[in-house]
Amino acid sequence: MRVLRFDALLVGDGTSLLDGALICDGDAIVEVGPARELLPRAGGLPITVHRGVALPGLVNAHTHLELSGLRGKTAPGQGFVPWLESMQAARVGELEEEREAAISAAIDALVSFGVVAVGEVTNGLSAVPALGRRLLGTVFHEVFGMDREVGLRALAETPTIPSTLRYARAPHALYSTHPDVVRTIAETASPLSMHLSEHAPERAFLETGGGPFAAFLDRRGVPRGAFPIPGQSPIAYADALGLLRPDAAMVHLSDAREPELDLFAARGAIAVLCPRSNLFIDTRYPPIHALLARGIPLALGTDSLASNTTLDPLADARALFDKPSVPAATLIAAATSGGARAIGHAASLGRLRPGTRPGILLVEGDLGDADPSRFVLQDLSRPRRMLAAAGKADP
Ligand SMILES: [Zn+2]
Repeated sequence: MRVLRFDALLVGDGTSLLDGALICDGDAIVEVGPARELLPRAGGLPITVHRGVALPGLVNAHTHLELSGLRGKTAPGQGFVPWLESMQAARVGELEEEREAAISAAIDALVSFGVVAVGEVTNGLSAVPALGRRLLGTVFHEVFGMDREVGLRALAETPTIPSTLRYARAPHALYSTHPDVVRTIAETASPLSMHLSEHAPERAFLETGGGPFAAFLDRRGVPRGAFPIPGQSPIAYADALGLLRPDAAMVHLSDAREPELDLFAARGAIAVLCPRSNLFIDTRYPPIHALLARGIPLALGTDSLASNTTLDPLADARALFDKPSVPAATLIAAATSGGARAIGHAASLGRLRPGTRPGILLVEGDLGDADPSRFVLQDLSRPRRMLAAAGKADP
């Protein structure tokens, strides 16, 4: 047993404690509280005093590690379809060794940022073994394809996944996965995750069957078969397919409109925001203030290095702190407990809470009179150090 004392603790739920302390047994948290209350009860235990702010290990709720080799090889700022075409072209020339090395470097970087768990969206599973050796999280095994039978056959596969990771099937998106496949996943998968209302081409395709995504399919000669066009907005269609529920993490929402977000909020689903990816691809922010005004639960992800410069969720938090001006405490909560909820790890990760091992991340420096959440976001170059590793909760 040991006592750790900090200038401040960020609990992970948006609250903070100045001059906070933790009593730990190995990596497990036994007690959390103000130092003035905990220290008198911790007689005889060794005490370490740390300058800086402690918070739970970070959760990056949306990554695609298998795309890590594509940094700097895709088209920024021209919208989704040009980005997609550039990404597909870059993938064609990629060597397997290059991809493996890039995945390995990306996982090293996640660890160095203080990330303890990720929501890894994958179609090839290529990053999963390496991920499972270093981090916790959930593998969202993506199903892609406008052909109903192909999609339903893919759902029958059951790959072997490291025991450190949860596994769930996930539709790629409503415009790319047959609705019968989406509905089947909605009925069987938990947690649930999908890209939703990310860009204007998605809306145009679902509402009318036309637009830039339809033109892209035509250029590539992709057979659409009997893929139905619902004539609905992405969010209304997601609801009709049974996707919007409290364990569903819907990624992006950068093209969502306010009345659609009323429905989203009523269903209790989670919004996973990847603001730097939205800025990279489409030069726009997600509708953060509309989400906050409706009390929609938030998580943060980085998306992949094909549309971002790093996999640091605090850098995505910082992107929203700077411009659209979101409270720092809200953003830190999204990067910890919000992310844990989005990937189905709410009971064990994302909060400094007795009986759990969420990982303890120290952001070093002199807090002075600063607000502890702002301290963490204002200068991302401050040293970060894990003081306890994350693990599944003790039974
Ligand atoms: Zn994504």
